[in-house]
Amino acid sequence: MTYQELIGKIVALQDEGLELFNAGKSVLGKNLLATHVGDYSGPQVLIQAGIHAREYITSLLLVEMARNLYLNDLVHGGGIYFVFLVNPDGAEIVLDGIESVNCDITRNYLISANNGSLDFSQYKANINLVDLNTNFNADWGGGSQNVFCPSTEDFVGFYPESEREVQSLINFTLQTRPLLTISYHTKGEVIYYGFENMSSENLTRDQLIGESFSEYTGYPLIFTENSTGGYKDWCINTLKIPAYTFEVGSADLPHPIGEENLPEIYEKNKEIPLIALEKAKEYANQIDFALSFVQNKVKGESYEKTNKSNATGYYARLQSRIEGRNSNRRSDC
Ligand SMILES: [Zn+2]
Repeated sequence: MTYQELIGKIVALQDEGLELFNAGKSVLGKNLLATHVGDYSGPQVLIQAGIHAREYITSLLLVEMARNLYLNDLVHGGGIYFVFLVNPDGAEIVLDGIESVNCDITRNYLISANNGSLDFSQYKANINLVDLNTNFNADWGGGSQNVFCPSTEDFVGFYPESEREVQSLINFTLQTRPLLTISYHTKGEVIYYGFENMSSENLTRDQLIGESFSEYTGYPLIFTENSTGGYKDWCINTLKIPAYTFEVGSADLPHPIGEENLPEIYEKNKEIPLIALEKAKEYANQIDFALSFVQNKVKGESYEKTNKSNATGYYARLQSRIEGRNSNRRSDC
């Protein structure tokens, strides 16, 4: 699969009637494509994927979920936001190779961080060599695997929320105010819940909701330990809402998990958005989204509602850029 094909699958949802949004931008200015299914009134759920470059199978999973929910008109009394690919710059490197990076200096910087190898199939970071799922301001830098120098994985950034993708996802979350969030990752078939210093009420609530996800998927539910700075951690720590990290795909599969595994992953996760929304409704009076925080803290770029022509124009620009990539390499970055 190429990067163009991946984006093409997201954009094609418009042909089936879904409206695409722009949830923000990547460092290189790519749109973070998103959609909404269901009602804007009532409890909302936010599901995001592809924050780690090599985990783009999770973006395809969200495409299947959104299509199924929309075409079968399954979402009522609330809504579900899908942010398909939070790290498009990184996904492009994994899918199209390091040659897809036009700028000579950036390309050489990344190759050097990759120990001189031109094989970027295992890459996780964004274009700045920051692991986006360690860059959120939730005990930032406190994780056991964190590193403090640019790296293809686990670098927390030079300061919390330094990365444009992270700022975008935070801002989108603050504006859409979900009562529950799910982050899709690969791999291992487990679900992580909880974070340090939670109130006992929230811990019990999040465990009970998590058990419903665990029962449906068959994935064990595990309390998060020694891991910080993730989107889930930020949602729990700052917004006080239930948030989960799903690691899909068997631990035996190599990274990146290929498309041929999508049907099995989808089958195990198909109903998760609906279960999440039902739980958000059921627990709504026990979820206190930190509204005072939101009013004080909205920052950065607003997400834009894009109409069909805007999103299609974005796709056309992507196509022409890819076509011109090799013949027209820029070194004047
Ligand atoms: Zn991941």
